[in-house]
Amino acid sequence: MLQTLELSTFDEVNLFFDTAADRLGLNDGLKQMLKRPWRELQVQIPVRMDDGQIEVFTGFRVQHNGARGPYKGGVRYHPDADLEEVRALASLMTWKTALVDIPFGGSKGGVQVDPLRLSQGELNRLTRRYTQQIEHLIGPNRDIPAPDMGTNAQTMAWIMDAYGQLHGHSPAAVTGKPVEMGGSLGRESATGRGVALVLEEAAKDAGLDLQGAKIAVQGFGNVGSWAARLMYDSGCRIIAVSGIDGGVFNLDGLDIPKLQDYQRATGGVVGFGGGDGISNSELLESDCDVLVPAAIDNAITAENARHIKARMILEAANHPITPEADRVLSEGGVTILPDVLVNAGGVVVSYFEWTQNIQEFHWDEIRVNEELKKTMLRAYHEVRTRSVNAQISNRQAAFEIGVQRVARAVELRGFV
Ligand code: NAD
Repeated sequence: MLQTLELSTFDEVNLFFDTAADRLGLNDGLKQMLKRPWRELQVQIPVRMDDGQIEVFTGFRVQHNGARGPYKGGVRYHPDADLEEVRALASLMTWKTALVDIPFGGSKGGVQVDPLRLSQGELNRLTRRYTQQIEHLIGPNRDIPAPDMGTNAQTMAWIMDAYGQLHGHSPAAVTGKPVEMGGSLGRESATGRGVALVLEEAAKDAGLDLQGAKIAVQGFGNVGSWAARLMYDSGCRIIAVSGIDGGVFNLDGLDIPKLQDYQRATGGVVGFGGGDGISNSELLESDCDVLVPAAIDNAITAENARHIKARMILEAANHPITPEADRVLSEGGVTILPDVLVNAGGVVVSYFEWTQNIQEFHWDEIRVNEELKKTMLRAYHEVRTRSVNAQISNRQAAFEIGVQRVARAVELRGFV
């Protein structure tokens, strides 16, 4: 049995990597090189708070692998962000960008902070200082940040401005910006749209009729709320959603547009009149057809995995299922669509944003959504075909495709 309690999130992601690398027959040297980050930076971020005191935060930027192009990865603001988590998320970006075949490597950033505790002025100052501390590592052809948990388009506008003060106007230095600042139409909804697109294809292959299918979504932030909204619009019954403080449940289906209005007005989903209160653990174990974890890492563990009733899980969050839970669920016949595929829509449209910035040309939203669909479906079917042909899980198939592409780029570069 795996001793997952002793493993960091990075170790856990590397268990999936090891299985893929061994099946691909990679030699030990290449395995080590692909597994470890190429570069890591930890920085101090002193911030003058609104009350005049100075608070010092810790930030990270990890560049995991740049063999296929500039490093690409989000920036997370979360109290639990640490180097091991950022490493794990950076490595997932490497395999994700390779799987969807866009010309980027993988990176991630993080700041140990609870963004809900800071005012907009404090967040602005923190973001500028963080950017100054990592500016020598980032840039349009080096490493391109984007939003992740706890950050948003406004954060990206601050990064772009702070970077631009040092390097000149550089919209391609960051993606997920506001549209008025050179952001792409369709970027905000892209990750959730990718989740909904993968669900549509996977449901066809699993013989699951999505009309009225019961879906539970953990997390109602950027990814969860867009995924829920698009699945609702296509006829699914969203029976439960949750945020950090708890959730709401309605077996007849929640009215998602009204719930979005409620969240905008109150800052959360708890207390919404169109359903009953539910805890996060009750949501995970609810009687649904499809479960969509769209919040935090390690939400599904060996303990709660045994109580999960969904027949399909779409990993909208990064690493929401521990390796041991993955084994329990797979043995129980649950179909798992992995994070590196399911939530890749965000980085795909980030790629479109970067290309639009470089060409100084704007695409309309229809084109963005069509290109996103093409890319997501191609990746889904590559994963599915490999999984069926090799009799391996979707996750293993996805990792194998990603790892194989990165290994090939390393060999072609000829630096080892
Ligand atoms: P967000 O900050 O917009 O929303 C996070 C949501 O999760 C909120 O509803 C919050 O209340 C909830 N949450 C936080 N902690 C929780 C907890 N302990 N229990 C239950 N719910 C909790 O973040 P996001 O951008 O939607 O990111 C969510 C996940 O998707 C993360 O794993 C992130 O890495 C991944 N992801 C995001 C993007 C993107 O484009 N934003 C792209 C790919 C992957």
